[in-house]
Amino acid sequence: MIDKRDDFLPVSKPLINQIEINAVSDVLKGGWLTMGPKCVLFEKKFIEYTGAKYAVSVNSCTSAIHLALICCDVGKNDEVITTPFTFASTGNTIVWQGAKPVFVDIDEKTFNIDVSQIEDKITDDTKAIVPVHYGGQSCDMDKIIKVAKKYDLYVIEDAAHAIGAKYMNRNIGTIGDMTCFSFYATKNMTTGEGGMLVTDNEDVARKAQILRLHGIDKDAWKRYSSDGSWRYDIKYAGFKYNMTDIQAAIGIEQLKKLDMFNQKRVDLADQYNKRLSELGGIITPNRSSYSSHVYHLYPIRLDKSLGVTRDHFITALKSYNIGTSVHFIPLHLHSFYQKNHGYKVGDFPVSEKVFDSIVSLPMSPAMNRDDVDYVVDVIESVIKGRI
Ligand SMILES: *Cc1c(COP(=O)(O)O)cnc(C)c1O
Repeated sequence: MIDKRDDFLPVSKPLINQIEINAVSDVLKGGWLTMGPKCVLFEKKFIEYTGAKYAVSVNSCTSAIHLALICCDVGKNDEVITTPFTFASTGNTIVWQGAKPVFVDIDEKTFNIDVSQIEDKITDDTKAIVPVHYGGQSCDMDKIIKVAKKYDLYVIEDAAHAIGAKYMNRNIGTIGDMTCFSFYATKNMTTGEGGMLVTDNEDVARKAQILRLHGIDKDAWKRYSSDGSWRYDIKYAGFKYNMTDIQAAIGIEQLKKLDMFNQKRVDLADQYNKRLSELGGIITPNRSSYSSHVYHLYPIRLDKSLGVTRDHFITALKSYNIGTSVHFIPLHLHSFYQKNHGYKVGDFPVSEKVFDSIVSLPMSPAMNRDDVDYVVDVIESVIKGRI
């Protein structure tokens, strides 16, 4: 029998230390709390890190995707292509614009959009493609860009999982027209809540900067600082999507550690891969030849031959203080998308098949090698029927 660990091992945990706490404390003492100089510095550092020309900080990746769609003029009767194997944000933002989310199934190896099926879904109404870099591994971007160019479509990358990842040695953030990152608490780096829209297109960056703060054509901190003026103009009915200096202060420090965090994830994944592949019946994450992997997630699939249901697997791990999750319940299986967009069970067989057998194991830079060994030991007992 395995000794049950005392503390719960969550599926994901942010790694924060005194450095971030001090940075927040400095902002609080400084008196400027909302979007201001820290946001500007965070954007500058983000530009240096990704190599993109412009970075616009916002309050979430969801907001970044929404602004990106608006900057592409996505509106009523337009269609936007994405995958159903994603989080709510990717589909919902398309719906907000009155457009139709057109799903393309995933490929069974990487769980990314099946590029060979994209062209079939393009119509005269298609405006953009939103590839999702599932789990921290890039989609096959050259093929996506090629189709997009042929049909004059925008490419907006949902890179919520892929900060620091590379496609053919090119940084994610420098490939599509716009790329959206998340700093949600579970993501590879965090600001608590937060996001970033990056682009090389100056017009897009300028418009997103205005839209993130009520459509007003001057950033508030300029308006209230000594070199600002009281005058402003509302150019669009914009949004309240700005980041705060409190968040940016955390982001600046987390970004410095990002490569170390991602390396830690890769090392833990290597250990999982090695040990789990020895067990048999557990399908470990596939590695593509064209992308690096930053393992935002570590999803395994349970082979039918194991004779262990996913529900039992999850319950058994939980009884041993191990957190797991399922990424994702495909969007077309949710009631909203069935009621309002006519999707139904059976529409995307690969997504459904993968969804039925997938489990995300604990993965975060806050873990160590002993944690991975513990998880694998428990899994071994589960599949041997001892738990
Ligand atoms: C987390 C996530 C988002 C949304 O990020 P937020 O910053 O929480 O808005 C978008 N897409 C995917 C695939 C995600 O996992």
